[in-house]
Order: sequence, then C-alpha cells, then structure tokens
Amino acid sequence: MNQLSPIHDLLIIGGGINGTGIAADAAGRGLNVVLCEMNDLASGTSSASTKLIHGGLRYLEQYEFRLVREALGEREVLLHNAPHLIKPMRFRLPHMPHLRPKWMIRAGLFLYDSLSRRVTLPGSRGIKFNDSDPLVESLKDGFEYSDAWVDDSRLVVTLAQCAREKSADIRVRSKCVGVSAQNNMWRVELKNEITGELETVLARCIVNASGPWVGQSFDGSQMAYKHRDVRLVKGCHIVVPRMHAGEESYMLQNDDGRVVFVIPYEHDFTLIGTTDEDFTGDPSEAEISEREKDYLINIVNTYFRKQISSADVLHSFAGVRPLLDDGEGSASEVSRDYTLDMDTSEAPLLTVYGGKITTYRCLAESAMEELEKIFPQMGGPWTQTEVLPGSQFESPSQLLDELTKRFSWASSEQLCRWASSYGSCTYKMLEGVDCAADLGEDFGFGLSAREVDYMCEQEWAFSVDDILWRRSKLGLRLEPLQVAKLEGYLLGRKKAITAAWTYT
Ligand code: FAD
Repeated sequence: MNQLSPIHDLLIIGGGINGTGIAADAAGRGLNVVLCEMNDLASGTSSASTKLIHGGLRYLEQYEFRLVREALGEREVLLHNAPHLIKPMRFRLPHMPHLRPKWMIRAGLFLYDSLSRRVTLPGSRGIKFNDSDPLVESLKDGFEYSDAWVDDSRLVVTLAQCAREKSADIRVRSKCVGVSAQNNMWRVELKNEITGELETVLARCIVNASGPWVGQSFDGSQMAYKHRDVRLVKGCHIVVPRMHAGEESYMLQNDDGRVVFVIPYEHDFTLIGTTDEDFTGDPSEAEISEREKDYLINIVNTYFRKQISSADVLHSFAGVRPLLDDGEGSASEVSRDYTLDMDTSEAPLLTVYGGKITTYRCLAESAMEELEKIFPQMGGPWTQTEVLPGSQFESPSQLLDELTKRFSWASSEQLCRWASSYGSCTYKMLEGVDCAADLGEDFGFGLSAREVDYMCEQEWAFSVDDILWRRSKLGLRLEPLQVAKLEGYLLGRKKAITAAWTYT
C-alpha cells in the first residue's frame, strides 16, 4: 500500500546523534519535522563511540584548533543539559620517556585548559605514580586532565524524545529507499522494515544525516547531487573485567603515535579503545578483527600490571567514522571535524559529513543556519541552555536520594541504573508502581517487564538488542536463558500489538 502524506518542512534521514540533534533543534524552532531511521535509534556509529565528551587532546597535534575549542566548550554545556547521561571524568596520561616529551604534553594540556571556559571541570596537573596505582613499576610520572563521559546511545534516544516533545515525527525501522524532486519539493519513499509497507512522504527539504551510509543513501535514485568523497574509518573497542578500582580513566600513548583509552565501564568492567582502520563494505557489518583485538590487548599489557589476554574479552563492538576524505595519509590523521553541504539544484538537500558525539549540538545549530535560508520564518537558537528530557533535577546525587526515598523497595543497583539512564523520567517509568511485585516479570539484574514496556512505548525499543545494548548495557550481564525469556516477552508484546491493530 502506498499512502501520500502531508507536506513536511524537513525530512531527516538517520537516527544517530546528528539526525536526532538536528530534529530536536529544528522542531524546537517550529519546523515540521519527520525523521526516518532504518533500524534502531543509535544503531549506527552513535552507539559504538568511545563515549567521550572531549575536546580531543590528540587533535591539537593536527592543528584542529577550531574543532578542539568548540568541543571543549560543549563539555560544560552538555554536563549542564543532561547531567544524568554525562558525567565529568578525570584522565591520567602516563609519561613514556621515548614517546612525546614532557614539555610537549605540558604545553598541549595548557592549551587544552585555556582554549575554552571551564566552570566545573578541574584543570590539568602533573602527577607521580606509586604502588597504589595499577600501572607497571617503571612508570613514575604522568599528567591528569579533565573531560567527560556520555552514555552515547541513551543521549540519542533522549534527543529523539526531545524532538518528539516539540512535535517531530520520529519513525524507526523506516528506511529511505528512494527520493525524487518535483517543483522544488522532495518526494521520499519510506519502507517500513517490519511490515514491508511503502509510504510516500513529501518534504520541502531533506537532511541526509545517515553517517557512514551518507554516500549510498540515494543509490538507485536519479539525483543531480553528487556526494563528496567519504572516508570510512573503522574503530573498535573491547570490554574486559574491571582493570583497576579507581574512577579515573587512562590515556595510553602507543609507539605508532596513536592513543588508546582505558575507561571504567558499567561498574564491573573496563572499556578499551579504539583502533583506526580504513573500511570498505556495509557499515552495519563492521566487526573487530583478531589483529585489532591484539593491538588493544598489547598496549594495555605494556602499561598495566594486570595482564589480559583475548580470553578476558567479554564483549567487543565496532563503529565506522563517516569522515570527509581530506586526502590525509593515515586513517587516524583524517580530520574529525564536520562539514555541511547545502545543495539546491533540485530541491534543498543538506548533507552532513563527519561530526562527533561531543559537537552534535553545534553541528545542529550550524545546520539551522543553512536551513534559515530556506525557512526564514523559523525560530532562533535555543538548545544551549534548555535541559534535555530527564534532566529535571538539582544534581545527580539529589535525584538518587529522592528516588531512594520514594522507591525504598528497589535495590540500590536498580536505583543507580534508573537514575543514570532515565534521570527524572524514572518517575514516569514507575508511575503507579508501589512495590517490587508491581514491576512484573523479572528478566534478571533488575530488568523488569515495566521497564521493558517503558523502553518500547516511550523510547522506540523493539528488539532484544535495542534493550540490552542501546537502552541499557545489560547485555553484559544477562545469561542466555534470561535473554531468551526477554525475547519471549517481546514476542508476546508484538503479537498483542498486531492483534490490537487487526481488531481496531
Ligand atoms: P550514525 O550514528 O551512524 O547515524 C546514522 C543513521 O542513519 C544510522 O542509525 C543508520 O541506520 C541510519 N540510516 C542510514 N541510511 C538510512 C536510510 N536510507 N534510511 C533511514 N536511515 C538510514 N565522538 C565523540 O564525540 N566522542 C568519542 O569518544 C567518539 N569516539 C568514537 C569512537 C569510534 C570508534 C567511532 C567510530 C566514532 C567515535 N566518535 C566519537 C564519533 C561519533 O561516534 C560519530 O561521529 C557519530 O556517532 C556519527 O553520528 P551520525 O549521526 O552522523 O551517524
């Protein structure tokens, strides 16, 4: 069946950080927005990042001052706007005498501290390591600096909620399969990836925010626009049992000039990454190679007393950076900055290249500056100071105290996880729940039917992976039998919904 829809101002392709960030900003300025995501929100690169809200100390070596300044400034903005999802993090950088000299690191950190205003984040300093640190004995000196950490996929879901609150239409499992222009208007074919149904959507402007798919989104369509050269760079992470007790992360320098982060993750684990390798093929099929695994394991074993092997790898993930090809030699040297390309040869088409999780808000504001030429009546900037859904609380500790009082029957693990996942939306998730039994079926580690229903109804979750790897990280903990139980529950839900559609 092919239905014709009303005319939208903006059709956004891609439900990653950039698509949802633009959707929220545009909808908040009064544009009529529809966003299509072919899979789950954040199922592309935006759930496979190192999860840092950072200026990118390494980018200073590549003279990326514009990017670093903008990204550094965003740390404080985002810490204010979504404090349950984004938290300050201290990084330790051990000094290796045969790698970057101390004066160079000191100068870099001075610049890092000075390029942007810091309100809450402490500055950098030199440190000495001793027996209480987890590093090998030969490492005596180092440095410490501040950045922040983010739950990347939950930030994307939260931005989609923000866009929906401002009347954007967010469609997941909805793939853009064809576009054509007529009378300065786009006609876009969307395919429902579950039912196979096709729908035609009319839009005055398209934003292509399809990340690593940016070069192939319009394959098969007769388009005048020729996309720019994209360089796909794969990066992988491994998750191992917790390497060290402290809350600080480590930034390890490698002999090849790259750096690898070792980050405390989900209380009991450590996240290690990333690699940089040119990639060809379908981005959804990217995965870690044995060589990349060894690369990450070797660098950790060079710095840490605790030694790991591939047997310690509990989980791994790969993401593909959608970078504009600037002709640089090695994959790690390609600019991480973003570029927006507006083409009006057929009808307005704005294409997004590159971009970091950290700079999504600035990227969206830049996109709005381009769109203002087409929609001069739209509202002005608003995202710098407005907090995101779930951030209606004084401080994370005050929120946790309040939740603990109100839901005293819940376990401390549940309360901590709810506070850092849903923030003040926890109250909505637990509306009408007076005791643990009201949560319904228990799938393990505090994941209940109530929470799963909330993820499906309010956060667009549909599959086991959506729930266990993107709305939560409980995939690290659930046993196969518990996963099967969750699968069964989701199947039951889907059947009930389909039956309701049939009888109404
Ligand atoms: P994506 O998240 O890939 O979103 C694009 C979406 O478009 C996908 O969900 C896809 O399913 C959808 N799509 C594609 N084609 C279609 C279609 N035809 N119809 C409908 N939907 C479609 N940044 C940081 O700030 N901090 C970090 O620590 C950091 N670490 C990183 C580590 C690695 C290994 C990588 C790879 C990147 C890292 N980044 C980091 C960068 C950041 O993750 C990415 O730049 C960002 O996530 C890109 O977001 P996006 O929205 O452009 O793309």
